[in-house]
Amino acid sequence: MKYVVLVGDGMGDYPVEALNNKTPLQAANIPTIRTFAALGETRMVQTVPAGLPPGSDVANLALLGYDAAKNYTGRAPIEAAGAEIPMKPSDVAFRCNLVTVSEEGIMDDYSAGHITTEEGQALVASLQNELGREGLTFHPGVQYRHILVWDGGPADCACNPPHEIADRPTGEYLPAGDRQDEIRELMELSKKVFADHPVNQKRIAEGKKPATQIWLWGQGKAMQLESYKSLYNLGGGVISAVDLLKGIAKLAGLEAPDVEGATGFLDTNYQGKVDAGLEILEREDFVFIHIEAPDECGHMGDAQKKTFAIEEFDARVCAPVFQWLEKQGGPYTLMLCTDHRTPVALKGHTAEPVPMSVMIGPVGEKQEAQAAFDEFVNDGNAQGMACDWIQQILNASSER
Ligand SMILES: [Zn+2]
Repeated sequence: MKYVVLVGDGMGDYPVEALNNKTPLQAANIPTIRTFAALGETRMVQTVPAGLPPGSDVANLALLGYDAAKNYTGRAPIEAAGAEIPMKPSDVAFRCNLVTVSEEGIMDDYSAGHITTEEGQALVASLQNELGREGLTFHPGVQYRHILVWDGGPADCACNPPHEIADRPTGEYLPAGDRQDEIRELMELSKKVFADHPVNQKRIAEGKKPATQIWLWGQGKAMQLESYKSLYNLGGGVISAVDLLKGIAKLAGLEAPDVEGATGFLDTNYQGKVDAGLEILEREDFVFIHIEAPDECGHMGDAQKKTFAIEEFDARVCAPVFQWLEKQGGPYTLMLCTDHRTPVALKGHTAEPVPMSVMIGPVGEKQEAQAAFDEFVNDGNAQGMACDWIQQILNASSER
């Protein structure tokens, strides 16, 4: 049995006026996803345990069958694992976003206009030169997403994710609690480092948003997960553009290859990601393919783009994977899901239940069947935790 998990990040939403009061999932032309729903079983699942933030980290842990309530220490330690940044027991890792805050102090862009990796890394190199010291290291990442490792840093301060405070005054959402002043000071000092930086001068001249400062959040100590081999006797991998997902994969003992041109946005290399996933599936029994673009479009508040991102996921990921599985002819279990909702009206995540379909193949000739895959399955009411359903499915594999 091959196990395939296909995840469209942040696909869930609410009805949107600009889409004739349909949700993006309802408005999108997604024939392959609707075939999975028709030929499989679709349930509304809860991906975020009560009391935890509805982040992609917590929700994707659930989609890999881990109970975040037991395992989760923070988002940044997962991303550090993904980037293979070593952490000592005394280290605290922070997510270090490059953001654009307006002169009025409003969070204008959590991604500094989706700054390029090259530009982002140049800014982080300057940060390291000017603010880095023994026990305080800025590690370059991808685009606007970087990591700070702080030996003996404050793990328990309440820090807000910048993508959750779009268009709001940052002054009201600064780190609060345990050693807040030290964290705030680093964010403040970064403004000076970035103010006249050549990268920003060039971006402004090109009419792009500058990275005005860093925003620190998602901190925690190193995290541990029991491996897929020991839990389910499964080998395999996770295909994703984002360090967060690669980190969970590595902590779970799964492969997490770098795919050239995988950007986490609409311009991602869909074909490359599918090829990398199928390459793993040829020699192993588990693959998890994660597409970030619907979530990013949700954060942009753009319903049309989000609908298009979902259609791209259907046509360029779901369809070719489905065709490959049918063609190879052996038994497979396909799980189609989204990690959480990113309503365009909110430009942020919510913890409400989301649809998930599980289809057992091969299905042969029945590929024209269609059924709804949206937020109104079971009248929108949750039918259990996603991690429990996934564990149940994967447990069957360890009994082989
Ligand atoms: Zn998101």
